[in-house]
Amino acid sequence: MRENYFDNAATTPLDPSVLEEMRPYLTDEFGNANSLHAWGRRASAAVELSRQRVASLLGCEPEEVFFTSGATEANNWIFQSNPTFAVSPFEHRSLFELGRRFDSKVLENDFYLLRSSNCPVAVMLVNNETGAILDVPKPSTGVHRDVTQALGKLPVDLAGVDSASMSAHKLYGPKGVGALFIRDARDTEPLLYGGEQEQGMRAGTLNVPGIVGFGAACEMAGDRMDKDWSYVQSLRETVLEALSDVPGCSPNAHTSNSPYILSVSMLNVEGESLVVEADNQGFAISSGAACSSRSTEPSHVLTALGMDAAWIRGTIRISFSRWNTPDSAYQLGKVLASSVERLRSLGN
Ligand code: PMP
Repeated sequence: MRENYFDNAATTPLDPSVLEEMRPYLTDEFGNANSLHAWGRRASAAVELSRQRVASLLGCEPEEVFFTSGATEANNWIFQSNPTFAVSPFEHRSLFELGRRFDSKVLENDFYLLRSSNCPVAVMLVNNETGAILDVPKPSTGVHRDVTQALGKLPVDLAGVDSASMSAHKLYGPKGVGALFIRDARDTEPLLYGGEQEQGMRAGTLNVPGIVGFGAACEMAGDRMDKDWSYVQSLRETVLEALSDVPGCSPNAHTSNSPYILSVSMLNVEGESLVVEADNQGFAISSGAACSSRSTEPSHVLTALGMDAAWIRGTIRISFSRWNTPDSAYQLGKVLASSVERLRSLGN
């Protein structure tokens, strides 16, 4: 039932054709990509093809792509190598928590407009809670961008960007694999010491099936980016239309927003209660970032936007994939509208 799954910012389903490309590397082609024999050479060739595919989607050189276990690892790697970053207040927890740990400066903001700083800056491209597309404040040097919610969905422009982090499972690839783009690795410390994998920067036997899946997902996303964009845009409008009669309901959209994420706040209702109601009706949505779904603290992103606690409490996130349908989007909107009414009548 992929069509009723609207939590694609947390993770996307694996595309069946991505699985087909991975399958040989989970079965007969089990070689270690660092071995010299034919099995190793075939695995290594598959890894290098994936590196080219990822680089081509990013618009960078294959040598600038370092495979990791995902965006969290990539963010940790770049930050620990250079703990002088100032972070935007909208960053994913994998950067925001690092910022707290290193006592980093948090960039000041006026709504989504960030003020520049004289430190290197970490500013994500698409925010995972609201879908807002963020600009790097000017002037900035030493720019890190978390492009996890953007890759394969909108063009990623790496001009002026020194490093970028990403995960395959947000674009219909497998979990547990991603990459760090590094423009000039001479200034970056290796993350893991040991073997000579990833130019000696990230030692450890390569996750060949995962990397192959990542490459396949990037190739496919590049081919269908425009088509998918307009499709999810229409789904987003369908949900908004179905919610249009709900009083005290406000979308949290930026002037420049990814259509893949729809954040909506409702007064006098708890976001978590709506998640449960939708779940009971067979729909998956979330009340914010999956990594914070067990936290009772209000979202640091919505707080940084200056939103009132009452609106933050009633916030849900609906995020789309190529498998949602106009009908499932409409049904979800209707389920949410009637749940809000019911919960409000019960006093939540
Ligand atoms: N950055 C952003 C913007 C994300 O949305 C996520 C996933 N929620 C991550 C980083 C972390 O990705 P992963 O859990 O795959 O390491």
